[in-house]
Amino acid sequence: MSDQGKQLREIYARLLRAYGPQGWWPGETPFEVMVGALLTQATAWRNVERAIARLKAAGALSPQGIAALPEPELEELIRPAGFFRQKARRLRALVKLVRERGGVEGLLALPPEELRVELLSVPGIGPETADSILLYAAGHPVFVVDAYTKRIFTRLGLLVSEATSYREVQGLFEGNLPRDAAHYGEYHALLVRHAKEHCRARPRCSGCPLSDLCPASGQGG
Ligand code: SF4
Repeated sequence: MSDQGKQLREIYARLLRAYGPQGWWPGETPFEVMVGALLTQATAWRNVERAIARLKAAGALSPQGIAALPEPELEELIRPAGFFRQKARRLRALVKLVRERGGVEGLLALPPEELRVELLSVPGIGPETADSILLYAAGHPVFVVDAYTKRIFTRLGLLVSEATSYREVQGLFEGNLPRDAAHYGEYHALLVRHAKEHCRARPRCSGCPLSDLCPASGQGG
């Protein structure tokens, strides 16, 4: 196994020991995961949960339900997620793709690279959102990279900088860890937890489970 592979496994093992399994699958159905992946852009997850609860209560958490809603009503339902006008348009574009592809199952049955290209063609869906859908809705073993991932691994010295490209960061994980969707999902969830508990914008290094591995330990106070 490569040195990077060993480091990535050690980091995972420590995070798992420190925080426990996160049991984090963002949504009860694949469609809910897709909606959540889109709504979570630029907002906290609790706001997404409120928006999704409102869609559910209105009986609109389905491709048909969203397509049937008048624009102002859809905007109002997802208002808690912020940027609600823009997100309503994006949601409609995603639903259009779903319907054109024969529904959620039809879309998610596409080969992963093709699915990724289709998702990236939707306005407002970038690599992180597309890969969240590939991993958490379709169950493909792709590593989701977010700003937390870049921050943590730059501080740990495994990335040169937080400006490292999405694909390069993804390659670090996919090239050094076995392709396993459940493992990638748990790893991503643990990184999110770690970024909130310790490796914040201003890090709280005291008590960090990675501090003895981390060249940046203590630099944030
Ligand atoms: S020691 Fe500090 S900078 Fe390093 S991973 Fe932990 S919290 Fe982040």
